[in-house]
Amino acid sequence: MAGARWARVTGRAAGWDFAFMPFPIRLPPTRTTRKHFQSKICAKIAKPHRVPVLEAGSNRCQLTPVLPFSLIDSFLLRAFRFRTRGFLRMEEAPGTMPPAPREGNGYLYIHVPFCEVLCPFCSFHRVQHHHGQAQRYFASLREEIRRYHAAGFRFTGVYVGGGTPTTEPGELVTTLNLVRELFGVKDISVETNPKDLRPEILEPLRAAGVTRLSVGVQSFDDRLLKDMSRYEKYGSSEVIQAHLRAAVGMFPTLNVDLIFNQPHQDIASLERDIAILHDLGVNQVSFYPLMTSPTAARRMAGVMGLPDHRRLRTFFTTILARLQPEFTPTSAWCFTRRGHGCDEYIVDADYYVGVGSGSFSFLDGTLYTTTFSLETYAQRIAAGLTGITTRHRLSRGDLMRYTLLMRMFGLRLDRAAIQRRYGASFFRRLWGELRTLEWLGAAKRDDRGWQLTERGMYWLMLMMSAFFESVNDYRDAMRAHIRDEKNESDTLCVPAISPAGIGK
Ligand code: SF4
Repeated sequence: MAGARWARVTGRAAGWDFAFMPFPIRLPPTRTTRKHFQSKICAKIAKPHRVPVLEAGSNRCQLTPVLPFSLIDSFLLRAFRFRTRGFLRMEEAPGTMPPAPREGNGYLYIHVPFCEVLCPFCSFHRVQHHHGQAQRYFASLREEIRRYHAAGFRFTGVYVGGGTPTTEPGELVTTLNLVRELFGVKDISVETNPKDLRPEILEPLRAAGVTRLSVGVQSFDDRLLKDMSRYEKYGSSEVIQAHLRAAVGMFPTLNVDLIFNQPHQDIASLERDIAILHDLGVNQVSFYPLMTSPTAARRMAGVMGLPDHRRLRTFFTTILARLQPEFTPTSAWCFTRRGHGCDEYIVDADYYVGVGSGSFSFLDGTLYTTTFSLETYAQRIAAGLTGITTRHRLSRGDLMRYTLLMRMFGLRLDRAAIQRRYGASFFRRLWGELRTLEWLGAAKRDDRGWQLTERGMYWLMLMMSAFFESVNDYRDAMRAHIRDEKNESDTLCVPAISPAGIGK
């Protein structure tokens, strides 16, 4: 009868969204049970929500349990944070060059931290762009890349992120040419901003073999662009759309990054963004929830407000409904039209090496980070070292959980691949996690392994954001030591208008 009381309680909260569990609970078929269910539960849950909560036959009572989604979300997030709390316990790295992996698919990540405008919501490692400093930085990057090549590292793809990698287009192309020459990479992904979608920048990138251009648009709503201090620097929605239209077809994949759950965003604004996307002809979109860090949240509070996490589900279900079937998911937040691949190289790669200041590497079960100080980075490279200053070797359990997170975020956990890598112990150790995903209807088991469902995509999106927010916290802590170098001065991030004036 405890189940009955619990279901009755959830049913009282009119307007909540419920998750119907994929299994029924049978209850003793006493007269009291049937009467109680019919009078209380059917009246409070089944009828108002038009669902078959109860089947009361002549000889049995069967209850399909319901749980409010908000309760499941909060339980999953707490469990996730608890189980992954050890991921980023970084310690000083005594050596500098990790051993090169002998097998597997490796990716090179290049971090370019310079931006023309420092957006208030951004929690990446970025600094104000200065031409001379950026040129010296690119020279150090190339030196570091050569060092990894000499140490035996090999990569199949490269991802250039930031910051804004196209702040120095000439240096970027020289660096990409070097990477192609050394590693013969096929996949080359570069991030940029709408303002840099100009022929004089895009043509050399195409000639340098870029296969995927990812444009940080964040929104097509002028009011939200103003909130984010991007309207003045990167142009209005109309200007951005014109730039994107001109770039369509230049690269095999043209990706647009959009952010949902912004403080002043509503469903109508999100739907307009999606309608524009359909119209533009771009073939990939990465829809991220607005993620913050403590420092970014302080900046945002005074300028654009803070996101309300209770609205995430509504936004996400709208995105799924409006993007499909034209765009199909390739991860829990990346959707592709006539293409493949997703925005997160960390999902597909067996290992990755991050070069430049403030980048992460993952090699042989160990996470590494490079120094967040641009001055220290230049000194280390000049001294014949790499940028790596900290590392953390994941325990076997954490390594398995990390793999589970990445694979499920990429929509599928392949049983045979996991078996080869970890043996049967993976399934024994993560039995609870896998059963919970199945039990909640987040993943379905088939011959090949586990496939994420649409319901599961929402939860994986939540977990991946929680993971990235913990990375943001780490960045915050590291960047606290380089206040002078950032040239950031918090006032520089904030537009000279009052919050009340935004978007008016
Ligand atoms: S969001 Fe703004 S500050 Fe952050 S990397 Fe992009 S352009 Fe730079």
